[in-house]
Amino acid sequence: MSQLEPIIIIGGGPVGLATALAFEKAGIDFVLLEKKDNVAVGEGGDLVLLPPALRALSQLGVLEDIRKASTRLRSLSRVDHKGRDIGEMNWFINYRKRFGQYPLLVPRTKLSEILFNHLSKHSKRKVYLNKKVTNLELHPGGFVRVTCRDNTTYTGGMVIGADGVDSRVREEMRKLALDAACKKKLRCGPLAFVNKERPFKSRYNALWMAFPPSICDTLRAGDAFEVHGKNIAVQLFVGRDRATLTAYKKNDLPKKEKILFDENYIESFVDSCSDLVIVPGEKLTLQTAFDNCIESGMTSMPEGVLKHWGYGKIVLAGDAAHQVTPSIGSGVNHGIFDVVALVNELRKVLAEHDTTPAKMGGMSQQDDELADALRTYQHQRIPVVKECGRVSGKVTGLSVTSSPLSRIVHRMLSWDAVQNYLWRKSASMMAKCPRFNFIKTKEPFRTVATASSLISHRSEYPNDGSRVSLLYNTYERLF
Ligand SMILES: Cc1cc2nc3c(=O)[nH]c(=O)nc-3n(C[C@H](O)[C@H](O)[C@H](O)COP(=O)(O)OP(=O)(O)OC[C@H]3O[C@@H](n4cnc5c(N)ncnc54)[C@H](O)[C@@H]3O)c2cc1C
Repeated sequence: MSQLEPIIIIGGGPVGLATALAFEKAGIDFVLLEKKDNVAVGEGGDLVLLPPALRALSQLGVLEDIRKASTRLRSLSRVDHKGRDIGEMNWFINYRKRFGQYPLLVPRTKLSEILFNHLSKHSKRKVYLNKKVTNLELHPGGFVRVTCRDNTTYTGGMVIGADGVDSRVREEMRKLALDAACKKKLRCGPLAFVNKERPFKSRYNALWMAFPPSICDTLRAGDAFEVHGKNIAVQLFVGRDRATLTAYKKNDLPKKEKILFDENYIESFVDSCSDLVIVPGEKLTLQTAFDNCIESGMTSMPEGVLKHWGYGKIVLAGDAAHQVTPSIGSGVNHGIFDVVALVNELRKVLAEHDTTPAKMGGMSQQDDELADALRTYQHQRIPVVKECGRVSGKVTGLSVTSSPLSRIVHRMLSWDAVQNYLWRKSASMMAKCPRFNFIKTKEPFRTVATASSLISHRSEYPNDGSRVSLLYNTYERLF
């Protein structure tokens, strides 16, 4: 495919930057617009990157730098609100066993910095800061015109919205789809490609904070802790230089509207759970962590997967398209898989035509191919992200439940047989995680090929008739 205009990436978070780096490798021309004055600014604590996503990042050449900046997560201890041990999980060790790689805890600003620094000088010049996108127009010539708050405009062959949970691109895409549907008298039927105005619901609000691990003698880099109990749960990950804590609290009713949290809200949130002991056997309470924190913030925890990820030449990736609770650490991991699947498809369209220089847009046959590519991208990604959101939602739900039954389930979850079963169940999904098919690199992890083959011929393990699978299915029905 010949490319007459660059592709415009909106948003310079981890997903936007990974897209830029993948485009550079694919020889696809791009422009990236970021509203802030720096790409390495992040809110929401550190990120857990799982081996399947690290595998894709290794293809972009950034794995070594990520390893240097991050901490390997090794142990996961769990207690209830009264500080009683409810069993260790060997989840991280399982990753190490099967993939030869522990999950990595990386400061989010570091991740963005690394992705940006790996861009060539030429590509860095195509990253524009202080560019808050306010408006999108589909040009009759097949282009997309993007307007920023400072009135600058950019014209592109297509637009990728990687602008996070409150995506402006998603909003503009909806308006355009709605206008077109009204003109064709489609209203909002299934053919209209119109998403809901508020597609995500928040069942939880979360307070996140980072504090120096030195405030508690027993915290070691690579440790993780969870506190479970009625209506509130805590996750703590200990990195080399900082520990990151997220406390989730259940809302009385799921909320669709955006909530603005002020200092009073945060204070009353902390007050309501200040005595909660976070580390088993230690005196580290949520209040002590908060009193010593270096940074903190409050956010709602939206959940949901958008029905339509694209309209015309506009497509979404990452948090703009889907929201999952962070309980099983999947938001940015799935954002990376979106990038892989999307760039693979776009690259294929380019490879079938003339690829020099990789410029795209404006030609009708190519438009059809592009539409097909975007459809394939959505078909690949939507079912996987939905399943992940469902599982993550259940995990979060269980962690804020306190009943004799939930205590039994917690206990059982720490049994080796159950954990091995769960591993095999989710491993079939992991084995299907996409890789860039145009970047030829060696497998970064020793056992990844073995893990995939082991998984693929047992892919439907969940209903194997064993006692553990019966137990699991009961749990699925109850929680
Ligand atoms: C407390 C917490 C803990 C989490 N932990 C994990 C974890 O351990 N593992 C994990 O996988 N995920 C985790 N997540 C989820 C993860 O943070 C997100 O999935 C990830 O940040 C999504 O990346 P993104 O690039 O899609 O969006 P963002 O990181 O939100 O980036 C969007 C970018 O777009 C820019 N932007 C927005 N609007 C505009 C505009 N109009 N014009 C131009 N630019 C714009 C923003 O400034 C920003 O730079 C966690 C989330 C939270 C809140």
